[in-house]
Amino acid sequence: MLKLYEKYLEVIDNYLQQCFLEQKPFIHCKAGCTDCCETGEYPFSRLEMEYLMAGFVKLPAETKQKIKKNITELLANKPSDGKFLHRCPFLIDSKCALYERRGIICRTFGLAAFDEINGQKVVKLPQCCKIGLNYSEIYDRENSLVDMEKFNSYGTKNFLPHPPDLNYMINELTKGIDGLEFGEIRPLLEWFKQN
Ligand code: SF4
Ligand code: SF4
Repeated sequence: MLKLYEKYLEVIDNYLQQCFLEQKPFIHCKAGCTDCCETGEYPFSRLEMEYLMAGFVKLPAETKQKIKKNITELLANKPSDGKFLHRCPFLIDSKCALYERRGIICRTFGLAAFDEINGQKVVKLPQCCKIGLNYSEIYDRENSLVDMEKFNSYGTKNFLPHPPDLNYMINELTKGIDGLEFGEIRPLLEWFKQN
């Protein structure tokens, strides 16, 4: 199954590469930039988790220890219910310790997408637009709005047709790859909870 998943990842990486190319004028991602891994829930499917952990076991002992410590601390601070936004435990020394095996949601970080609110098409920007990074050129910080005039002036048309949503990615892009079972999707930390 993990081999089949790697085949799927090729499909999704190609697709997302096109999205990043299309959105290039607004993308400021570079090595060492980690804001997208600082605050979130990071939904992972069972299959993505298996793939991530198959890489985890091969990491150097010291890195594994750091990750385990992060997970233990986060679980201790996690409220029993409700959303828990946190730094990803796999972010070690300002880098993803399992970058090649990161989740699908992680691969979409930094992209803008279209969404529909009350029947109206809106542009959803990545969080880091607020700190002067991706899409900050068209984000009106004072009013928390997208400057559509500036946005249209860049002539960028093909965005993700939906916010970078894991279910969407899985449902839309696995068509044609038979036998791939993603399983349940949970926030990353939930996979480490002892029941
Ligand atoms: S798995 Fe890696 S890329 Fe994804 S949120 Fe965690 S540190 Fe960031
Ligand atoms: S998405 Fe934003 S925070 Fe993440 S690497 Fe790109 S610019 Fe940095």
